[in-house]
Amino acid sequence: MLDLPRIRRRSTGDGVYANEDVKKDAAVVEYTGERISEEERDKRESQCSALGQPFYSVTMGDGTVVDATYFGNIARWVKHGCDPNVSVEEMEGRNGEFGVVLFALRDISSGEELLWDYSVPEEEGRVRTVCTCGSEKCRGYID
Ligand SMILES: [Zn+2]
Repeated sequence: MLDLPRIRRRSTGDGVYANEDVKKDAAVVEYTGERISEEERDKRESQCSALGQPFYSVTMGDGTVVDATYFGNIARWVKHGCDPNVSVEEMEGRNGEFGVVLFALRDISSGEELLWDYSVPEEEGRVRTVCTCGSEKCRGYID
């Protein structure tokens, strides 16, 4: 759907950086991956966790999960920030299928790191991941 040369990774370290100035509300990149069910997501997530490997996914409104772990693109490397500059939205592609796209929440300058807020609704008994994003608005946990 969207494959814009707006972002890049650095050769060292992780994270994703803007490669050009991006205007507020512009689509930055599609978050691609395998389409799987929530049941399959839970299975894969615990397999990854047992192996000590990261698992990357986004769950869409209809319950479809985009699993970027093995077949994802650069979007899966965008890190969490409590003061994000991109948001994750669903967008209809030309083929009528919905995809997950990262949009700029404000003007982003070339060279700036992209950050998205990974937070999800509260769930009872969930273990929270401590956040070290360093933002003044940091709430202390990632999800
Ligand atoms: Zn934070």
